[in-house]
Amino acid sequence: MSDTSIFTRILRGEIPAEIIAETTNTFAIRDIAPQAPVHLLVIPKTEQYADVVALAEGDPALLAEMVALADNLAAEHADGDFRLVFNTGAGAGQTVFHVHAHVLAGGLDEKSVG
Ligand code: 5GP
Repeated sequence: MSDTSIFTRILRGEIPAEIIAETTNTFAIRDIAPQAPVHLLVIPKTEQYADVVALAEGDPALLAEMVALADNLAAEHADGDFRLVFNTGAGAGQTVFHVHAHVLAGGLDEKSVG
């Protein structure tokens, strides 16, 4: 399908990317263009939800599963502290409309929010 998201295509193995972690309903990859020393993406296996607002309304347990995986990854790849970013809407920089969390960690500026 031409409208299949890039993350679904990665999950299917159609686009190369190492899946660095996986839970029942989520998976994680490294961002191809890292914006922090550790920059991972946590993604639901379903592409049903375009953004975090739709996900929170439709399946809050799945959102909680994403947060738990982010927490585990930050402990594994950094010191446990992390920033979780959901770009929501094109005007906020969202380019892939299959909800995903940016997990930013490792040597972050304490005062930065973005
Ligand atoms: P957004 O801009 O939608 O919040 O985030 C999409 C993210 O996906 C971007 O940070 C971008 O670098 C990342 N990305 C886009 N295409 C690929 C890809 O093919 N592989 C990986 N690993 N990351 C990608």
